[in-house]
Amino acid sequence: MGWWWPETGSNRRRRPFQGRALPLSYLALAMLSSTRGQVRPSSSCVSLRLPVEEGYADPSDDGSFENVEPQYSNHHGLTPNRMLACGILGELHAMDRQVSMIRARIALGLFIITTLCCAHAQTTASALTPGEARATHAFAAAKKMGPGELYAFLEPMPKGADLHMHLLGAVYAETFIAEGVQQGLCVDPVALKFTQPVSNSGAGACATGNVPAATVLKDQHLYDALVDSFSMRSFVPASGISGHDQFFATFDRFGGLKDHSGAWLDEVATRAAGENEQYLEIMTTPPFTRTATLGYKSGWPAGAYKDATREQLAKLRDQLLAGGLRDEIVDDSKQIADAEAVRNRIEGCTLPDEVAPPACEVKIHFLYQVLRAFPPQQVFAQTLLGFEVASADPDFVGINFVQPEDDRIAMQDYHLQMEMLDYLHSVYPNVRISLHAGELAPGMVPTAGLSFHIREAIDLGHAERIGHGVDLLYESHPDQLLKEMAAKHIMVEINLTSNDVILGIKGNEHPLAAYRAAHVPVALSTDDEGVSRIDLTHEYVKGAEEQALGYVDLKNMARTSLEHAFFQGESLWAAPDDFAHHKAACTAPITAISTPTAPCTALLKRSERATEQWELERRFAVFEASLH
Ligand SMILES: [Zn+2]
Repeated sequence: MGWWWPETGSNRRRRPFQGRALPLSYLALAMLSSTRGQVRPSSSCVSLRLPVEEGYADPSDDGSFENVEPQYSNHHGLTPNRMLACGILGELHAMDRQVSMIRARIALGLFIITTLCCAHAQTTASALTPGEARATHAFAAAKKMGPGELYAFLEPMPKGADLHMHLLGAVYAETFIAEGVQQGLCVDPVALKFTQPVSNSGAGACATGNVPAATVLKDQHLYDALVDSFSMRSFVPASGISGHDQFFATFDRFGGLKDHSGAWLDEVATRAAGENEQYLEIMTTPPFTRTATLGYKSGWPAGAYKDATREQLAKLRDQLLAGGLRDEIVDDSKQIADAEAVRNRIEGCTLPDEVAPPACEVKIHFLYQVLRAFPPQQVFAQTLLGFEVASADPDFVGINFVQPEDDRIAMQDYHLQMEMLDYLHSVYPNVRISLHAGELAPGMVPTAGLSFHIREAIDLGHAERIGHGVDLLYESHPDQLLKEMAAKHIMVEINLTSNDVILGIKGNEHPLAAYRAAHVPVALSTDDEGVSRIDLTHEYVKGAEEQALGYVDLKNMARTSLEHAFFQGESLWAAPDDFAHHKAACTAPITAISTPTAPCTALLKRSERATEQWELERRFAVFEASLH
């Protein structure tokens, strides 16, 4: 999970931050708006004080204002009076809920056992191709020798797409340090973060106690400490500082760099090419400062803090569009176009195909990141801009919500934000949606907060893919949810290292086995490979070692990634997520040297997805043929 905070101005510097310590730019924006309320205890209940927005009626006039339910659950219809009685009723409800949870878990256990048996039967029944048999044998031998050997085996294995990666989080600390030196930034050697030079004090002058970034290159100790500070390297949790805290704190520390998106795209594309990846769907947050300002100016409908109607949201959308929200689309598109141009220049992608480097072959599209830990007027305005940008610019193939899901506002407004998506999806049905949902672990938030995020991301948020989905088994009726996800082909983006370092969830605590047993499509991704200091191959190794994934499992995950990428066009496969049969036009075997038949060529020409899928099968043929 990573994100950008864009700023306006001639340099259009973008400053990342982490959600818990809100950046100054947020505070400045917050001053434009009324203060959002805070959660506080009220006897045995929890109540939420909400602000009175300018231009709207005061909802506390009727005396009910003090008892608005916080959005920690998807329960609706609790009136203020009922809230007052929740001390007693809450206990009864808890008992009732316990019984229903036990029933749900028994049902889920039976469901998983049944499906695991079926899955096993299917695996043993399906025959491996000679290439897969060779690869399975080589995979087993490498696994036996250890993680290094397994990495060496898996690195050249075709991997399809990485569908869950944040541009900023994908860059390694060493790159940021080199750029900090180039840009003449300063370093706070105590806080171990970049700082800006002091203006009016001569070029390169740093504040008292800070040193020029160039100093870091002559001080190995400081260099090491900075790399650690910018990443999860050497991090050991201590009292009061978890992996979650360290992870999100890194974004603020390497903030202050000017935008180098083009160079960063080159870094991730080059790494992806080295691991035999074809496609990256990268999350990024283009400029939206004017949109946010418009959002605060428009305000938020009175009384719409728990639920907002479509009529209210439609009216607000009209106001925002009339206020000039679409003016920012051109800036957002230009930023991405410029970054891609720089990437192409650095990589030499204008050279003929024979001499252009492999990184040029890595196709990149973008997902528009919306920051979810802000007041609803900002979140709605930015989400609207995201839908507008994704509708206007083919580089953006969809949207996603980011920032820590356990953030106070993100938790409080989760349902409200899903309602925003429900409405905007009805206006922009062609914009694809993937959502971080269930990136939570027991104890991080109240139990009720674990029970509905994945469900609502699908039902209200219209997510075609779920990012993380870690708290699956704490959702209400997880067995029904799994069945529905399998039936609707909702893919889960699995980020094993991220879940390990941020949530402390790994091995059999991770729900990957439950998803697989239920035939929910899954694919591995990196999330933030720079901060976590990993790559996609590392995730394949982790999957093999901690999740008992075999060669064919990994191969099918690579296929799944392209099946669920937000490409245009039909699939190469005859049935969704069934990798047994190609479409009739492309039934000819795909080998290392084959070319598509005429009917297949016609299909590939009209489908970006099928083209990448055909290429993946060709790469598998090459890889498996290379094994002895
Ligand atoms: Zn993420």
